[in-house]
Amino acid sequence: MPDYDYDLFVIGAGSGGTRASRVAAAYGARVAVAEEYRVGGTCVIRGCVPKKLLVYGAHFAEDLKDARQFGWDVPDNCAFDWSRLRDNVFAEVDRINGAYTATLENHGVEIIHERATIAGPHEVKLANGRIVTAERILLAVGARPHVPSCPGHEHGITSNEAFHLDAVPKRVLIAGAGYIANEFAGIFNELGAKVTLINRSEVILRGYDESIRDRLLQISLMKGLEFRFNAEFRGIEKQADGSLLVSMTNHEPIEVDCVMFATGRVPNTEELGLEEAGVELHNGAVVVDDENRSTCDSIFAVGDVTNRVQLTPVAIREGQAFADTFYGNKPSKVDYGCIPSAVFSHPPMAAVGMTESEAKTKLGSVKVYLSDFRAMKNVLAGRNERALYKMICDGDTGRIVGLHMIGPDSPEILQAAAIAVKAGLTKDDFDATVALHPTMAEELVLMK
Ligand code: NDP
Repeated sequence: MPDYDYDLFVIGAGSGGTRASRVAAAYGARVAVAEEYRVGGTCVIRGCVPKKLLVYGAHFAEDLKDARQFGWDVPDNCAFDWSRLRDNVFAEVDRINGAYTATLENHGVEIIHERATIAGPHEVKLANGRIVTAERILLAVGARPHVPSCPGHEHGITSNEAFHLDAVPKRVLIAGAGYIANEFAGIFNELGAKVTLINRSEVILRGYDESIRDRLLQISLMKGLEFRFNAEFRGIEKQADGSLLVSMTNHEPIEVDCVMFATGRVPNTEELGLEEAGVELHNGAVVVDDENRSTCDSIFAVGDVTNRVQLTPVAIREGQAFADTFYGNKPSKVDYGCIPSAVFSHPPMAAVGMTESEAKTKLGSVKVYLSDFRAMKNVLAGRNERALYKMICDGDTGRIVGLHMIGPDSPEILQAAAIAVKAGLTKDDFDATVALHPTMAEELVLMK
């Protein structure tokens, strides 16, 4: 048996890499993890965590408006200090970064703060030129925003930079209409920016149920967001006053102060030495089997770099399954069925299972139940914003195959309901549960 420096060398200390390192070390493996930026990765440093905190910050704009109907005297022009929110968010990111680092250290994982690349099936080259060896190498290097290569694209930002802005731009154009676009559209709009989304196709949030995304589009338009569809980027021109003139197909150019690209994310596989080690890629992503093994026997990959499902909890499960299988003597595989997801738009949406059209295509016979209602709080606030819940059941067995929601707190509600969907419960099982009144979640057991 060759004598390696480590049992496991992990490249990337994001959600997947951190979990795999910590668990493998807890099982007794000698583990090192290399991280070129900050421990925590996309989710903690420039993704889910800071984004959610900005969503909370933005929500106060609505709450303050609604507060009057609940008896509170709120001045017309409440001052908002972007730099205070931004810096408080950074402080929280620092805290979590510290906690992740401490967890790794406490488990005896060696953290190497350098870029690492593959130098062979068992060799890793560090930025300082040192070569280290490991029995297994785990790639957990994540993904980065894709920026279309149009003229002037360098004048735009991505979600990475959005957290660092000096001020909230007055006019923002967001390219894309997926997760990041709709989440940041809500944030910027609530914080006072004029927001326009442009998308190459004619839909927002492809992949989500049609009724739910239509409802988000309708509410977003009501809130003053603008959308331009079938609009491919042509270019961005910086003008003498610093503003940006954006041209696109099928529409007139728009002048804005900030352009943000939210046009998908691409795996970070360039210049990692993968091809030389025999690691096969597909569309830039590492091809892996159900044990997370690449086409090189000793190199594995988890998380966004494999482009299976780009979600933090999935990367964490993959990291856990990898460590359990190879270091804990507990072979395990990730179950990709019924993964719940949410878009933290204003209002948020959440879903688990098949959309109505997917279910119709796959099952033929389906039954659809709806609840279209105004949350009690919105009624008193005079806020004309309706929630929509949709349940899709197999027409033959009654089993729930999809649950889709838009409305206040829908991600919080859906997480609990997703357990029942995953467990294979039926509409009758939901109906047999007494409503918890008055809540929004009770609509789940009252759907028609
Ligand atoms: P999405 O895949 O959600 O959306 C991408 C958008 O950009 C779509 O509207 C798409 O258009 C458009 N687009 C894609 N490629 C191009 C291109 N080459 N030129 C022009 N437009 C293009 O990507 P996001 O960047 O919003 O997010 C990336 C991933 O990160 C998500 O898929 C998700 O897995 C994850 N994420 C999850 C979050 C959550 O769980 N709440 C939050 C943020 C990100 P169309 O599809 O209409 O053709």
